Amino acid sequence: MRCQYCGEYVGLLRRRCTECGVLLSIYEQHREDIALSELLDRFIATGIARPKIEAVLDRDPRGTGSVRDRVTADMANRLLGAMGVRSNQTATDVRRLRESGGGDASTSRPSGDAMPPRSRGSS
Ligand SMILES: [Zn+2]
Repeated sequence: MRCQYCGEYVGLLRRRCTECGVLLSIYEQHREDIALSELLDRFIATGIARPKIEAVLDRDPRGTGSVRDRVTADMANRLLGAMGVRSNQTATDVRRLRESGGGDASTSRPSGDAMPPRSRGSS
């Protein structure tokens, strides 16, 4: 078998390599309250090679949306929720937006109004 994300050979019984597993577990731990840039910082802080980080962000082996799209959708929902707008964007919506927008819609929101209020670690 090869890693579902980076394509590295991982043996017969595994579907992903240790490093991609580490990155995914970081995402799972923080998915409720992390912005894409912050997640990327945490990924880089692991010291794992950049191509694997990119693979984990962009691959979608289960067809549920890539990590990048899911983080973007979750962040948009939280932002809209904070403004009192009910929103249920999914990774699929984000991908569709990005593909129809022809470019980098997932990161095109101006950073000035996209920063969630800092609610963690301040107290
Ligand atoms: Zn891998």
